[in-house]
Amino acid sequence: MSVLELARPEILALAPYASARMEARGGSVMLNANESPRPPFADDGDASNRYPDPQPAALIERLAALYGVRRGQVLAARGSDEGIDLLVRAFCRAGRDAVLIQPPTFGMYAVAARIQGAGVVEAPLRRDFTLDADAVLAALSPAVKLVFVCTPGNPSGQSVPRAEIERLARALSNRALLVVDEAYVEFADGSSAAALLDGHDNLVVLRTLSKAHALAGVRIGALLAKAELVALLRKLLPPYPLPSPCVRAALRALSDAGIAAMHARVAGIRAERARLGVALAGVPGVREVLPSQANFLTVRFDDAGAAYARLLEQGIVVRDVRRYPGLGDALRITVGTPEENDRVLAVLAGVPA
Ligand SMILES: *Cc1c(COP(=O)(O)O)cnc(C)c1O
Repeated sequence: MSVLELARPEILALAPYASARMEARGGSVMLNANESPRPPFADDGDASNRYPDPQPAALIERLAALYGVRRGQVLAARGSDEGIDLLVRAFCRAGRDAVLIQPPTFGMYAVAARIQGAGVVEAPLRRDFTLDADAVLAALSPAVKLVFVCTPGNPSGQSVPRAEIERLARALSNRALLVVDEAYVEFADGSSAAALLDGHDNLVVLRTLSKAHALAGVRIGALLAKAELVALLRKLLPPYPLPSPCVRAALRALSDAGIAAMHARVAGIRAERARLGVALAGVPGVREVLPSQANFLTVRFDDAGAAYARLLEQGIVVRDVRRYPGLGDALRITVGTPEENDRVLAVLAGVPA
């Protein structure tokens, strides 16, 4: 059975919109897309008057090289958020199908499902926020088409061991897609599940340039999957999803120099994560600093509401995660610059900043 058989039949049958940009290859006088013949300013050397390539070859090539996959296995989209949305729209029939998540987890999986009219099945993380693969499999029903696994988890900060991912992918084979969201994997000790793609038809890996690559404002992420699945999801993408200035910014960040800068940035954040974690654990009123493989620390307080208010009073905004199950006393604090982290410590310790 092909994993595509799990998709909505109307999406499989869909004839996608054929854009002018896709039809026209190799021309030099382009009069097929109703674009302006001239750029907006005489000094605009960026051809902003032209519609962009829907999936720019140079970008796809750099992403494939970075993630160690083939070009056909890469779909570039507006952040991994769009990858989540495309998957839900392609695989979940409104009122019939469902996604499976493990709370406490990233909110967009359930939001995308609800927008689509799909169900949300929950198999919570264990009390220590490790993944309970048996609970995931026990919660599975024929309605579940997508199982989202966030590793490192947001807001839990924990990584799911590679063996667990493999076990889930195998057990879900012919039943559901396993979608591994690796938004923070660059900050983790372990490696990407992208290496497992060739052995598992039903595996999808989500990557993003928003976190480690420092490009949250540029909105580019990658969905990695078998080529047939990438081709199916491309049918759902708008004709010109990636603005040219964003593609240029991404290519700059994916140059050799950009990748070297990313590695240095990640090493700096990891060092600050360790320093901030140790220091926070010694602050009065801090109950526990959860172990983190990501670029944030989730911290339990005697009075999280008071800690939040005190930080806010000093202009420091952290994420209140008290609404998440198991985190009723916690705040999620992004690792900032050393100076920003010092301010957090000073405010929480009650030292005048
Ligand atoms: C930040 C985040 C994303 C969103 O990434 P974009 O590529 O910016 O859309 C996806 N998944 C998780 C778990 C995140 O925390």
